[in-house]
Amino acid sequence: MLGLNIFNIKKRRENKMTTLNPELLKKQNLSKQRMKQLYIAYDEIDALRLPECPTPDDELADAITWQEYKIQRLWGFASDSDYHSYWYRTPRCRCPMMDNEDLSGTGQRIYRKDCKIHGISKWTTTKLKKHY
Ligand SMILES: [Zn+2]
Repeated sequence: MLGLNIFNIKKRRENKMTTLNPELLKKQNLSKQRMKQLYIAYDEIDALRLPECPTPDDELADAITWQEYKIQRLWGFASDSDYHSYWYRTPRCRCPMMDNEDLSGTGQRIYRKDCKIHGISKWTTTKLKKHY
């Protein structure tokens, strides 16, 4: 999905341990199956955030957004782009990280026009939110 097919996610997992927040796991009462899906979903979003990720610039913003929705659903939360935080934490994004962190939950974002991934597809991110 979304350019990840040529990525060796399994190989990455051998070198990395994703840790799911244990208190949140207890609170959300997630099944083992759901936890496995979460580990995979986090690996997928990490793969998208690698500098060598083959997903083209004009598709990357959407790919990360959809992956963030997926992670929210797997955790049992509502799909809400106001709380997404991976979109600006990717090497190809030039949007201001700290300003966007401060805006978490407000529904507002600050994009840089010269950002290779958000300068191009800003409208799609906005459109996605309206459809959820
Ligand atoms: Zn950006």
